[in-house]
Amino acid sequence: MSRKTRPYLFYDTTASVCSTCLARVEAKILIKGGRVFMEKWCPEHGFERTLMADDADYYRQCREQWIKPPELPRRFATPMARGCPWDCGLCPDHMQHSCVTVLEVTGHCNLRCPVCYAGSGPDNPSYRSLDEIGRMLDTIVENEGEPDVVQISGGEPTLHPRFFDILKEARRRPIRHLMVNTNGIVLARDPDFARRLAEFGPGLEVYLQFDSLDDAVLRQLRGADLARIHEQALEHLNAAGISTSLVATLRKGLNDGEIGALVRHALNWSCVRGITFQPIEDAGRNEGFDAARHRLTVSEIRRAIAEQSGLFALEDVVPVPCNPDTLAMAYALKLDGQTLPLTRYLDRELLVGGASNTIVFERDPRIKDTLVQLFSTAHGPEQRARCLSELLCCLPRVEAPAALDYRNVFRVLVVQFMDAANLDLRALKKSCVHIVQPNGQMVPFEAFNLFYRKA
Ligand code: SF4
Ligand code: SF4
Repeated sequence: MSRKTRPYLFYDTTASVCSTCLARVEAKILIKGGRVFMEKWCPEHGFERTLMADDADYYRQCREQWIKPPELPRRFATPMARGCPWDCGLCPDHMQHSCVTVLEVTGHCNLRCPVCYAGSGPDNPSYRSLDEIGRMLDTIVENEGEPDVVQISGGEPTLHPRFFDILKEARRRPIRHLMVNTNGIVLARDPDFARRLAEFGPGLEVYLQFDSLDDAVLRQLRGADLARIHEQALEHLNAAGISTSLVATLRKGLNDGEIGALVRHALNWSCVRGITFQPIEDAGRNEGFDAARHRLTVSEIRRAIAEQSGLFALEDVVPVPCNPDTLAMAYALKLDGQTLPLTRYLDRELLVGGASNTIVFERDPRIKDTLVQLFSTAHGPEQRARCLSELLCCLPRVEAPAALDYRNVFRVLVVQFMDAANLDLRALKKSCVHIVQPNGQMVPFEAFNLFYRKA
């Protein structure tokens, strides 16, 4: 007599939390019909099941092939005492240093977005003092030595009365890349603001909220008509020559059909170096969110980039090895109005092999021709000063015929911040986006929004 089988593959177990009471629970990873689910059970609140990926092959590649040895921070600030996720951090059980450190300088904002993991708004008057911010910058440097990326965030950081002094403080420290996370309203209204900001470059980038080209969508996500504001902000950033990344928060059925249009729009602006897509993290203020209809996974966004952009194929969007569960990336070269996808030429072995490995583009004739063409054009030495490894977070050193100019590189990132429903503590331990705290701690972004952020 043949035995009955379960209608899925039992792929793995992990730990998660109950999305009702946040108690730590065991979770199973199941593969069924080419899709991946997390199934968990809380003694109090019963079963729940969450779609983790709609492409089981991609999920398995991330888990089995796109992993590399964890890179350590210089120090751990907290001991292991209660177990993950209650020991942040970083505790010695964390498996990745801070690729990006977020420094929140205010809870105040000139918008009150229906979607805001920080719960910021006009009625929140909190600003950190410059002294406190200086100490937090010191914490970041103690942890990282020469931090890759520090993101000045909020609320809306451009509203901080000492905003430019904060940038000066940051510039006094050995931070390689400084980002300002903004909704763009101040930049749109005041062209002088962009000009002042430009004085802090190179190595400064604006991370501009840019969810849609359509005011009807923006009203739902941001509570305001912002399309014109975004364009004005981009005009001022372009005029000031400030490196900019667009950041689109995606809600399924609302703006995931705009992914290709947003990529193409980003390519139209010479100041724009890339676009980041973030599915909504169900944390903080998240009005009107219906998990059954609005959740998106990395694999769905990856496919949408390939289907809608007219530029990237599926194989161009690859997992980022430091945290492949939640990050995917695609790179392109922008040359004389043409855009050439680049990631397909990067060998997985080299990407996951560690920072000491070197990618030599000359091996591929197409890339070589492109680079020769790039560097035969009139680029002064100061423009060639930055090499690709400094521009591309999480990539090993790249050896090209000469260093690439930052303006010729275009990056698409998918960044998923897990919430209680899809939290996989295995992946959380690899989080490389951390929020610095005034007490010297560094808390993984998702853990902070779920467990540590005070209302
Ligand atoms: S998320 Fe990382 S830092 Fe926080 S408790 Fe878990 S292992 Fe430690
Ligand atoms: S999401 Fe950004 S712009 Fe909107 S309220 Fe929050 S901090 Fe302000």
